[in-house]
Amino acid sequence: MKWIYREKTEQQLKNWFYQKPKNKRGFKTFQIFFSWYNEFVKDKNCHYCGISERDIQKLVHYGVIKSKRFPKNGNIKRGVSRGYWLEIDRRNPNGKYYKKNCVPCCYFCNNDKSDIFTEEQYFKFKENRKYYLLSF
Ligand SMILES: [Zn+2]
Repeated sequence: MKWIYREKTEQQLKNWFYQKPKNKRGFKTFQIFFSWYNEFVKDKNCHYCGISERDIQKLVHYGVIKSKRFPKNGNIKRGVSRGYWLEIDRRNPNGKYYKKNCVPCCYFCNNDKSDIFTEEQYFKFKENRKYYLLSF
């Protein structure tokens, strides 16, 4: 199947939103989250490494980069939907999901940063993997 850019569907976003525990949801309603997503995440670039959603989608679609979690030929299934779209990262991983704490993030940066680093710490770590050794 030839690649064409695919937006994340409203249903996928609803699933994401309602799967988050209520105490982590800073966006008061799905509608507020949805308009924020359309303005600041959809078809944007990763906040940390700068890759575009289109580029990453193309690489995953054509199997240039592979994972069991990535859809093959754009075939999205339960548990096989990662990598294709930018994800939502919390700048401060201990904070809630709300406008000021959220940025678009590629699968790779999101996994790398995980719940380990804040935005500021991760930029330092990404720049120099030995950064935190310097503080010993
Ligand atoms: Zn990235």
